[in-house]
Amino acid sequence: MAPAPVSASQSVLVPTYARAPVAFERGEGPWAITADGTRYLDFGAGIAVNALGHAHPHLVKTLTEQAGKIWHTSNLYGAPEGERLGRRLCEATFAERVFFTNSGAEANECAIKMARKYHAAKGHPERFRIITFEGAFHGRTLATIAAGGQQKYIDGFGPKVEGFDQVPFDDEKALRAAIGPETAALMIEPIQGEGGLRSVPARFLKLLRELCDANGLLLIFDEIQTGVGRTGKFFAHEMYGVTPDIMSIAKGIGGGFPMGACLATEEAASGMTLGTHGTTFGGNPLAMAVGNAVLDVVLAPGFIERVGQIALRLKQSLAELKDKHPSVIEEIRGEGLMLGLKLHTPNTDFVNEARAQGLLVVGAGDNVVRLLPPLIITEADVAEAVSRLDKAAGAVEASLKRPAAE
Ligand SMILES: *Cc1c(COP(=O)(O)O)cnc(C)c1O
Repeated sequence: MAPAPVSASQSVLVPTYARAPVAFERGEGPWAITADGTRYLDFGAGIAVNALGHAHPHLVKTLTEQAGKIWHTSNLYGAPEGERLGRRLCEATFAERVFFTNSGAEANECAIKMARKYHAAKGHPERFRIITFEGAFHGRTLATIAAGGQQKYIDGFGPKVEGFDQVPFDDEKALRAAIGPETAALMIEPIQGEGGLRSVPARFLKLLRELCDANGLLLIFDEIQTGVGRTGKFFAHEMYGVTPDIMSIAKGIGGGFPMGACLATEEAASGMTLGTHGTTFGGNPLAMAVGNAVLDVVLAPGFIERVGQIALRLKQSLAELKDKHPSVIEEIRGEGLMLGLKLHTPNTDFVNEARAQGLLVVGAGDNVVRLLPPLIITEADVAEAVSRLDKAAGAVEASLKRPAAE
């Protein structure tokens, strides 16, 4: 039997999360199911992680088969499944080199170290600064909170890691002014996730590429949330025709197994020589087997195109929902199956109302509610989600009409 849910006051877990009072025991495709059998339509997908939904047969089979062979060997020995996954990622992207990690933040740490080392190895150790953008989120390690630049994540954790300069979103003048003789790289999410589903304009991404080329800087894309098919492209930057030198990925590539990777051109990775970086778990056989299984599905002919089509359907329905509930929904944002409802009313209330309707969605910055469903959703799932969102918006509207004293 599943253990009973633990209340916040009884929990021994460090209380850094406001956990919803619901826990899941199992899942089936886009459905997450509690121990008592209550079914929730999961349009959060563990924050854009469960790209193929829950308990996908090919992932379950691959993971259990690998579990019966070997789990972990360390990076002291050859890694055939890692070589295979790395090669497939390179063949499907701009990349020529891959370093596997266990999480998104570690993929970004690798990207940051790689950019610094690139310049150091070329005789310019003074070029270590990285320019990032307001509203960014790059993870919760000491370096990545400095990169993200959000004061609430930085405060109280000692001196901020040196070497990150943040400029306003989509501000060419500020960006040009920030580039100096110590700048090593520019780092950006093509679509801000945690920041509230803000898409970087294509012309701004093109400008970043031009500025990097003109100044000998490396361009780093954080595609941890936008990657692996989520936007209707394998990686979001393909939509804009701008290619980075380094790219961090995680979330969807493991389909729920914790893993990430830093992808790079051979040139950008040229400073990362023997002994310069390492990880005990990164690239372990379980993770690599699952990553390969995720690619079996995502890179199968037609899969990503279908994501684009179903996403269009969802976006159209959301636009209708916005017209129906103008006092609640202000704007629809995002690309592919990474969509956001920018609200007039508090996003946390809406997330709770949606959950009361049996629909899981995720909050984001700028008062946005994120929809990050698994990429395998059907038209029926879209219709069901929209119907539940409609009810949730209706419940929020009704609460607006009630006098505050009640
Ligand atoms: C989730 C996320 C991260 C951090 O990934 P973790 O696996 O939580 O360390 C970094 N960047 C972006 C854009 C993300 O969405």
